[in-house]
Amino acid sequence: MSNVIVWFRRFFPLVGVLVLAIPAAAGERALIDTTRSPSAKMYMVDLADTRWTTGFWAERFAVCRTTMVPHMWEILSSDTESHAWANYRIAAGLQKGTFSGPPFNDGDFLKWFEALAQVYAVTRDPAIDRQMDEIIAVVAKAQREDGYLHTQTIIPQRNGEPTKEFADREHFETYNMGHLITAACVHYRVTGKTTLLDCARKAADYIDHLCKTKPQELARNAICPSHYMGIVELYRTTREPRYLELAKQLIEIRSLVPPEVGSDQNQDRMPFRAMTQAVGHAVRANYLYAGVADVFAESGDDSLLKTITAIADNVAGQKLYITGMTGAIYDGASPDGVNYKQHKFIKTIHQAYGRDYQLPNLTAYNETCATIGYGMWTWRMLELTGEAHYADLFEQTLYNGVLPGISLEGKDYFYVNALKKLEDFKWPMRWSRTRESNMPVSFCCPPNVVRTIAEAHNYVYSLSKDTLWVNLYGASTLDTAWIDGARIKLTQETDYPWSGAVKFTITEAPARDVAVKLRIPGWSRAGTATLKINGQSVEGQLAPGTYAAVKRTWKSGDVISLLLDVQPSLWEANPLVEETTDQLAVRFGPLVYCLESNELPAGVRLTDVALALDESHRQFKPARERIAGANVMTLTLPAYAMGRSPWTPGQLYREAALPAPREFPLKLVPYFAWGNRGNTEMSVWLPMR
Ligand SMILES: [Zn+2]
Repeated sequence: MSNVIVWFRRFFPLVGVLVLAIPAAAGERALIDTTRSPSAKMYMVDLADTRWTTGFWAERFAVCRTTMVPHMWEILSSDTESHAWANYRIAAGLQKGTFSGPPFNDGDFLKWFEALAQVYAVTRDPAIDRQMDEIIAVVAKAQREDGYLHTQTIIPQRNGEPTKEFADREHFETYNMGHLITAACVHYRVTGKTTLLDCARKAADYIDHLCKTKPQELARNAICPSHYMGIVELYRTTREPRYLELAKQLIEIRSLVPPEVGSDQNQDRMPFRAMTQAVGHAVRANYLYAGVADVFAESGDDSLLKTITAIADNVAGQKLYITGMTGAIYDGASPDGVNYKQHKFIKTIHQAYGRDYQLPNLTAYNETCATIGYGMWTWRMLELTGEAHYADLFEQTLYNGVLPGISLEGKDYFYVNALKKLEDFKWPMRWSRTRESNMPVSFCCPPNVVRTIAEAHNYVYSLSKDTLWVNLYGASTLDTAWIDGARIKLTQETDYPWSGAVKFTITEAPARDVAVKLRIPGWSRAGTATLKINGQSVEGQLAPGTYAAVKRTWKSGDVISLLLDVQPSLWEANPLVEETTDQLAVRFGPLVYCLESNELPAGVRLTDVALALDESHRQFKPARERIAGANVMTLTLPAYAMGRSPWTPGQLYREAALPAPREFPLKLVPYFAWGNRGNTEMSVWLPMR
């Protein structure tokens, strides 16, 4: 943050609000800027204030910087592999041709651009800055003068073909413009340049005009509404009150969607505030809920918070996989009888939330984008409430839901994420259950996962008045300032998630009391965490699922030592989840583990393996290993090969025979690391003997 603005805010706090109607200085502020959001309980540190140093996340970020981001540019800029960049160039008049690719390609390209901007924030590599400038020049040229940007429509219009915008709600126009706006806010905060921000303002003005003149049409086209989050962020960046009003209106106009058009699939069957359950397309749903959370942060409209809290409880309590993934089903019907008992109200849904407890493993849909949307939503719930429960959900999703979306080497992608894969299950699901090097017809997930990994460090720490929140653990440095200008610097040394020992060393702190709030993860066992300051034990509550606060005037050299009891543990699901009845999953701290068939001894089939709950079968042996160049920890424990005979093809039932179990050492790998060693079978849940 610029020193001038810090100084100005300190001495003229009220005037500062007015003055900042002028766009803020570069670097101000963060990925999601809630510094001045009346209903947020915390705000993020700036985009380059946290740096990974060693260990798990430093390794992931390094792969992101050196492989994921540059490799994705190779895909996006190759006309044969993806037409995303070509579409922009054609729309800008720099290349001849026609539009090709899915309608949401523009937005997906900009997700990758956001990752690029984040990498630049950390590296300050001038080549990236130049690359961004070159891309922005083309995007700006492709954008219509009135702010509309959707190359699928602009290209034929440029070629003289009459093509109407917003003709088809599945054209994702507002989604594309939403990602433009979000990427522009990040780019502006990183570089101070308004080049892309100018495009974002034009796009927002276009949406604003549409909201005033054709609100019903705009509401009907709010498919996967990334623009809700985008418009709020643009308001935060520019302090233009019109954008906040627009963001509020975008939620209100959802009620204008006519009943014959509205559906659970798009969460517009009923007015937003009437909803109590997560329904329909899970990416669309989670983007909507995250956008509403952003609106609440600014508006304080309690009826919005009440609705998203009810829906969040529904997901966490009934519709969430143990991997933090959402959107269980490929295709189905909604609402499956809830509230609408007449057949005529039943509509189809796809890529969607199912019924409560409907969590199949073999056929799980779990689009990677839905998981990322869930992460964005739970993060915002944390910002609004300060409840550690949401940080737990965010961490669960980040490690077990987001990371599997890309291979450890950074070049192959999952679109859907099953929790079980069996070779004998031959049903032709529409999406691959091995990672793919490209998915030209639907490249939404790959750049989404890359930007999330590029930005993961932003979620480690957050701030509120005289308080530093530590939400995630990972070896890192922090050098940041509260909005009043007071600075704090520290290092976090840890081998988390492989170890629960975390050491913070303060190197600079304000000369006044500051509370450091340390998250005690909800997955840890009560009474196991310990906390010391400069070697002295701290008395008080360290309850799982809360933040433990230590308040004092910190001095340079002060050391906070937190020890979390990271141990392998066996988990079971509510028996209403039919697919996991009498089965167990293994967790190690925040990580979910799985059995991959290449770890089985010869002659043991994945479907014949069982775990046991007694103490002698809980003797886990951890081992450091490398999978596809990444450092992981495997867990080996005594398990059973049940000795059941194989099934013959076409056989559906048979008389059960007494099994002849024999013990063997079973090796499990972190779920995020599965599928990196060829085409294997896999299962998260294993039967309990
Ligand atoms: Zn996707």
